[in-house]
Amino acid sequence: MMHPQAQARPSRTLSNGDFDAVIVGAGFAGLYMLHRLRGMGFRARVLEAGSGVGGTWYWNRYPGARCDVESVEYSYQFDAALQQEWDWSERYAAQPELLRYANHVADRFDLRCDIEFNTRVASAAFDAAAGRWVMEAIGGARVTATYCIMATGCLSAPNLPPFKGLESYQGECYHTGHWPHEEVSFAGKAVAVIGTGSSAVQSIPIIAAQAKQLTVFQRTANYAIPAHNAPLTDEFRAAIKADYPALRARARQTMTGIDFDYSDALASETSAEGRALEYERRWQRGGLSFLGAYKDLMADQAANDTAAEFVRNKIRQKVRSPALAELLAPKNTIGCKRLCIDIGYFETFNRPNVKLVDVSETPIEAITPRGVKVRGQEFAADAIVFATGFDAMTGSLLRIDIRGRNGMTLRERWHEGPRTYLGLGFTGFPNFFTVTGPGSPSVLTNMLPTIEQHVDWIADALGYLRARGLSCIEPSAQAEDEWGAHVDELAGRTLRYTCGSWYLGVNIPGKPRVFMPYIGGFPRYIEKCKEVASRGYEGFVLG
Ligand code: FAD
Ligand code: NAP
Repeated sequence: MMHPQAQARPSRTLSNGDFDAVIVGAGFAGLYMLHRLRGMGFRARVLEAGSGVGGTWYWNRYPGARCDVESVEYSYQFDAALQQEWDWSERYAAQPELLRYANHVADRFDLRCDIEFNTRVASAAFDAAAGRWVMEAIGGARVTATYCIMATGCLSAPNLPPFKGLESYQGECYHTGHWPHEEVSFAGKAVAVIGTGSSAVQSIPIIAAQAKQLTVFQRTANYAIPAHNAPLTDEFRAAIKADYPALRARARQTMTGIDFDYSDALASETSAEGRALEYERRWQRGGLSFLGAYKDLMADQAANDTAAEFVRNKIRQKVRSPALAELLAPKNTIGCKRLCIDIGYFETFNRPNVKLVDVSETPIEAITPRGVKVRGQEFAADAIVFATGFDAMTGSLLRIDIRGRNGMTLRERWHEGPRTYLGLGFTGFPNFFTVTGPGSPSVLTNMLPTIEQHVDWIADALGYLRARGLSCIEPSAQAEDEWGAHVDELAGRTLRYTCGSWYLGVNIPGKPRVFMPYIGGFPRYIEKCKEVASRGYEGFVLG
């Protein structure tokens, strides 16, 4: 549901203009970036492709969409009053509530007047003579700015695989990452869902309850831990609000920026009985902290296998048909792909109207006018839901024609994979920033505190330049190389490298295989960013 005020305001057409900073994207990153820069007196403007704010929560309106980091942490902390006045209703807020929150923030800080909606940026080019970025939107509108800040999101470029015959399909077609604003009803319909990642895991139980027949096409089975979602009580909310800063401070000390009890114990040094108790305790609590049970789970395959087998056994208990349970039980490293958090996912396959089609060995042959074809058999569907994910981390940037010094395109620059300094900027692209770009801890952390940290760092850097009468900042090639080597070196040590995940770009044919997020953890990253700033923006060339 949209915020009433969001609907009341007519969308405006982009007025050409010159700004100190142009921010692309009005998700949580773009909104806070605008707030910070405007507060510092910069003339800033946000360009947003959608007709409203919220980014991820504006686009991903599929049934069951909700956060997998608990609501009280998946929220801004930059304003104490905002934290106090907002009441989350559930442990894991659903998409409509998250979208209401984004709209509340936009209204509370009067951000809309500086956002151009329905404006998709097609190109951004650095004009070296003028020292300005020139951005053009689809439709031809043009703005210029000293600074260009891409808040375009890590998971915002939907991936629709080029299935043979796709255009011939006569039924309803949906992508979870580009869901219609109107209510979609699957009542009485035969529905196909392609994919079994987080979006599918959340939507399948709800679609199954509505549809006459649901057929799920699974290429890779996925691990999911129960959410144990529940309404939040007044007592719980009051306790959180009574000491919000302490919660935030504890979270900042952890690898993921989430207030989890990460254990220092090793699975490899714990007895089988001890491990079973600990996994069960975390399973009963639910959520992503399951993987915090032992320190070696993402570093030692034998240790990882113990957690993986625990979850497989849980799946075997939940799914009545042993053959189906084996198909649904993942064989890869747990945590290699993003862990899913579920509400009744595996149990859904016990329903008589739900069928699982394994496409791990034989890929989907074609989409036909009537449905999905596998191994010569057609599965008729009135609607197909593509839960096929995103061209993650680089997709939203590379879908824009970005040109730095001497007309160099970002596409050429990243031909062999993305290279950045701190995930914040790239050599050859002066005064250009990314919020949670590749090489930032981003998707391996709670994104909200990470976004705030990036935004604050960028705002502080611009303040530093202004205070010294400088107007140019660009990562040096050496700093970028060293950071890239550091990111690669840490990534090479983790089991996350061992499967075909979107972290590595494997889900997109032809995408270079580079582990994109920084795996060194949030505290280490914060320290590095602080150190860089305190040394006069070490590794950046200022002018
Ligand atoms: P986004 O929210 O993706 O916003 C980017 C905006 O940029 C979009 O509105 C887009 O329209 C706009 N944009 C992109 N390109 C252009 C262009 N060329 N021109 C104009 N506008 C453009 N993270 C967590 O930490 N916890 C969670 O529980 C969690 N759940 C998630 C659930 C889903 C379904 C998905 C897809 C992601 C989830 N994430 C989660 C990651 C989530 O993306 C981040 O938490 C966060 O919302 C990102 O905010 P953002 O502002 O950086 O990017
Ligand atoms: P995803 O994790 O990339 O899953 C995409 C699914 O589609 C996978 O099962 C994939 O199979 C399948 N697929 C892709 N191409 C296919 C093809 N050609 N044929 C058959 N199957 C194909 O995408 P997502 O589920 O949208 O999630 C992306 C990320 O967004 C998550 O990892 C998470 O970070 C975030 N997210 C979070 C939540 C949440 O719980 N808060 C919810 C949704 C999304 P393979 O695995 O074999 O590639």
